[in-house]
Amino acid sequence: MSEGRPVSLAEAAEALLAAGRVVVLGHVRPDGDAIGSQIALASSLLAAGKQVVVLNEDGCPASLRFLAGAEMVERPGGGEVEADLCVALDTANRSRLGEGCLASTAAVPMLLNIDHHISNERYGDLVHVDAGAPATGQILFELISEAGLPLTPEARDSLFVAISTDTGGFRYPATTARTFEIGAELLRAGADAGALSSMVYERYPFRRIELLRELLGVLRLTSGGRVASWALDLATKDALSLQPDDSENLTDLIRAIEGVDVAVFFEELRGGTVRVSMRSKSAAAADVCEICKTFGGGGHALAAGARIEGGLGEVSGRVLDRIDQTLS
Ligand code: 5GP
Ligand code: MN
Repeated sequence: MSEGRPVSLAEAAEALLAAGRVVVLGHVRPDGDAIGSQIALASSLLAAGKQVVVLNEDGCPASLRFLAGAEMVERPGGGEVEADLCVALDTANRSRLGEGCLASTAAVPMLLNIDHHISNERYGDLVHVDAGAPATGQILFELISEAGLPLTPEARDSLFVAISTDTGGFRYPATTARTFEIGAELLRAGADAGALSSMVYERYPFRRIELLRELLGVLRLTSGGRVASWALDLATKDALSLQPDDSENLTDLIRAIEGVDVAVFFEELRGGTVRVSMRSKSAAAADVCEICKTFGGGGHALAAGARIEGGLGEVSGRVLDRIDQTLS
């Protein structure tokens, strides 16, 4: 597949301003950065008088529905969308936009790909990938400013959540001075950091804690204590009636163990595949994007993932072996 044309932020802004009808997409199993970026862009474009459709293959997760503007996020299925421009946000591979979203937007003549994943495939017609940005939300703040679009209260709060969640609350190494400046600008514009953080980090369903109890029971340390991992099988998922976002960022907890460099979460999916979610403590310790790429996945140096065919025990064995080889 040929790569799209790399464009500057100014050119991306021009493409947005030139379009009257825009479809905004994000990745499957969306996180705070994907949904927050989708809502922010949609809200700013709407306030500028554009027609906007927001599609996500899996819809807005329950945990993020408190965001004003979340009601704009629709699942595909309403037929083909007519628009001048499709914008893909926070999505490294075209396939991660989801089959339904791809089918619904097949007739849209232009695709603008905006992302911060180093592993981005550069799909689409226009590509703006800034791997130095810790969150797609940070790129969108700059894009909205560059385009002179209104920063609505919905966009402001969604961008705060997008940036906060992808930086672990302004903590991860990818966080830059600019990230804090943008955080400050969002607060000056009226974002309530305490209230938004409380909605994101202090409102977990009890299921998440029950899941944590299960996972702690199967926690393993391998590679001489440098790798912490846990695995979740279908039976446990069903018994707890887990939702996809219940396990969001839970693996950060075991990456934080002293001496651990890499933390891994193995999740059995229906249909004989395993979702692997990997976290590294530092780029010097391990580049988990490179490890996940060898299994067909991708992501960032310190947070990456893959979907691998096979049983839970077999896949976890293979992946832990690969990590062990990489570390030694
Ligand atoms: P998470 O572990 O939170 O699901 O994902 C961490 C990062 O890895 C995200 O930035 C996500 O985009 C990327 N990622 C997760 N799963 C996959 C996958 O199956 N394929 C690719 N290419 N990237 C993934
Ligand atoms: Mn992101």
